Amino acid sequence: MIVILQPNLTPQHAEYQFVRNYLEKLPNITLREHQEHGTQQVLTEFYLIGDTAVLSKEEIEHLPGVDRVVRISEEYRILGRHRDDHRPTSFEYNGIVFSQDNLNVFAGLCAVDTREHVELMLRALQANGQRCTRMGAYKPRTNPYSFQGHGKTCLPYVFELAGKYGIKVIAMEITHENQVQEIQQALDQTGQPTGVMLQIGTRNTQNFELLKAVGRQRHFPVLIKRGFGITLEESINAAEYVASEGNTRIVFGLRGMKTNMADPHRNFVDFAHVPVVKRLTRMPVCIDPSHSVGTRSVAPDGILDIMHVTAQGVIAGANMILIDFHPHPAKALVDGPQALTIDELAYFLEDVQIARTAYEQRLVHARAFHTV
Ligand code: PEP
Ligand code: MN
Repeated sequence: MIVILQPNLTPQHAEYQFVRNYLEKLPNITLREHQEHGTQQVLTEFYLIGDTAVLSKEEIEHLPGVDRVVRISEEYRILGRHRDDHRPTSFEYNGIVFSQDNLNVFAGLCAVDTREHVELMLRALQANGQRCTRMGAYKPRTNPYSFQGHGKTCLPYVFELAGKYGIKVIAMEITHENQVQEIQQALDQTGQPTGVMLQIGTRNTQNFELLKAVGRQRHFPVLIKRGFGITLEESINAAEYVASEGNTRIVFGLRGMKTNMADPHRNFVDFAHVPVVKRLTRMPVCIDPSHSVGTRSVAPDGILDIMHVTAQGVIAGANMILIDFHPHPAKALVDGPQALTIDELAYFLEDVQIARTAYEQRLVHARAFHTV
């Protein structure tokens, strides 16, 4: 059961204290508190765990300061959508809104290689009106002898350049909890020129200690990728691990499933699950067409497979796109064969807009049908 307080009630308010005391005295119930930071307001929620079946929803709803009470199923307690659940499906970070209702594009380098490439990429993004990017500093590689990323040494110049080109959020994978501190230190050292969304890669989806660590910190939002060899339920539970530690600013990323049945694509594209994740949870949903498809193959109609699957995800309501670009793909140290080029950026963004407009038209169409 979730007890949701009226907006902006904090521990300083008498109603907050009253409700908290009341709930703490309930027998066989453990209390866990969460703050939901929506775009307009902060909501305090108390999760009641234990013998909740005997509790009266109405009685608790009548306590001063309580906005509403939601009975929840066992599944995805914090991130799930439950009956009569009107909790936010959006959050804001560093001026960017992440929502089940909008779309943000994170085009950028799979891996930071040179300062010059970072700058070329960021300049092109600014020229195309973009405020987000992806930049990998810590790379989890299958082969121990492959380039592992520049790690913390590249962070200061990546952040400074991001600030210079008006980038507000960088999606950056971390592979160890110490890296959160390294990122925080580099941001402090450079004067907070930009923001970072911590990315948990597909190889770490069930690294529970890492999930708990990014859940304990509340500063950075988290992009958690679906595990490429586990069920959707297991991956959403991984996101729930992050939320259960207190950080609910999470985007869920689809990036394809590992199976030879996907050949000739690198992974089996799973963007049919965009609306499914939105139905099951309140998380905005990201698609990663680059790591799903993995090649620059072009269909006979002249459109890259990567752009076909991007459009498929966007027309189904995706809220974020993570996509590899590189100024010179042949020189990229990681994933060059799947990178789009800077010349293709404007064309790509226009193609995304075509699909997004089609999705918005589909929404209007569906609403008109359901109201007749
Ligand atoms: C990435 O986005 O750079 C990446 C390694 O993705 P994934 O974890 O989905 O393979
Ligand atoms: Mn990659």
